[in-house]
Amino acid sequence: MGDLLAQLTASSANGPADPRQCSPSQTGEDEIGACYPTALLRVSFFAHARDPRGRAWEGSWDSLKRGLARTFQPAAGNPGGDPKRSMPAICGAFFPPGVNRGRDTALGVSILLLDFDNERPEPIPGEFYPDPRTGEPSSRPKTRKVRIDAPVSPGEVQAALQTAGVASYGWTTWSARPDHVKHRWVTPLSGPVPVDLWERFTEAALERLGLAGCRRGLDLGVIHNPVALAFLTGSPTPETILRFGTDGRALTIDLRALPPMPAPDLEPWQAATLAERKAARTAGERWFQPYRVGGRPVDFQSLDLASILEARGVKVGAPRAFKDGTKRRAHCPWAGEHSRGVDDDSVVLIQTPGSWPSFKCSHSGHIHLGLQDLIEWAWGRP
Ligand SMILES: [Zn+2]
Repeated sequence: MGDLLAQLTASSANGPADPRQCSPSQTGEDEIGACYPTALLRVSFFAHARDPRGRAWEGSWDSLKRGLARTFQPAAGNPGGDPKRSMPAICGAFFPPGVNRGRDTALGVSILLLDFDNERPEPIPGEFYPDPRTGEPSSRPKTRKVRIDAPVSPGEVQAALQTAGVASYGWTTWSARPDHVKHRWVTPLSGPVPVDLWERFTEAALERLGLAGCRRGLDLGVIHNPVALAFLTGSPTPETILRFGTDGRALTIDLRALPPMPAPDLEPWQAATLAERKAARTAGERWFQPYRVGGRPVDFQSLDLASILEARGVKVGAPRAFKDGTKRRAHCPWAGEHSRGVDDDSVVLIQTPGSWPSFKCSHSGHIHLGLQDLIEWAWGRP
């Protein structure tokens, strides 16, 4: 089956894939819907989860759909770590030739990937991640994924996409079970979306597609990540795979009119952490006041967060112009706490003249973390 991926990705050098190269899928359902969108999509394919550098692919929605309609198997020897992560994967973004996958390197995103895992994190009672500085338990609970009470069904998504008049292709994923349905959908975009606008674009897309009510079942971390990998169709029991689709247009959203990001959905323990800090602020406590250099208060405006992280072995990307300062991608010092331990360039560091620098990790368990947490991690509490 490995040569199927090769076939799927070999067309990049010469433009779109020729659908006639593709044999019918094993499930015989590669003719779902007529293909309205005609614009060329640019995406990337990866051999498995640990494959750093994808193969660029450019083609029509029609030819992409034919690829998605195939059934794949994990690569031999589990190079991705386990069978599921050894499956070939698609990334909705495209990159310059010879460059590894990363938010910093992506040139744009051509498709919307909707992952309905119908799960939510639940804290494990009494288990907390250790504070990396002291080894003592932190306030961040270890979590496990549990099924939500009202899973989003494929029929619900299909009806919404149909009403929206948007083209799509969907399938049940590797870990789907009869009692826990999990499905993934791909929708073509009418034009590539810049990575910096991606999070806001996806929020506007959920509204536009009538899927705001289905947020409960979505893996929002995956959707907000412009360079997330989505494994192609496969299952330990391939005969149980279900496929879905809608006819329609590519999704079009005016990028000049994107609403600002809504406030993040905080877990109860995150809300509690923030409430504690707010109470301390109200009581007149200032977390930054005890930090001193040579007896004087620290000038936080001139703090170089990149070098603080780099000095502690955390990878930091090159600075890019942002407003009148700079913005950098970085890895997260607490990457081990991300779901599945994903260590990616999920952190944004912003330094602008006249303001304190900011630290933000986009993983859902870390959206409440900021400069204070980074300083406490790096310097400890005075
Ligand atoms: Zn993080």
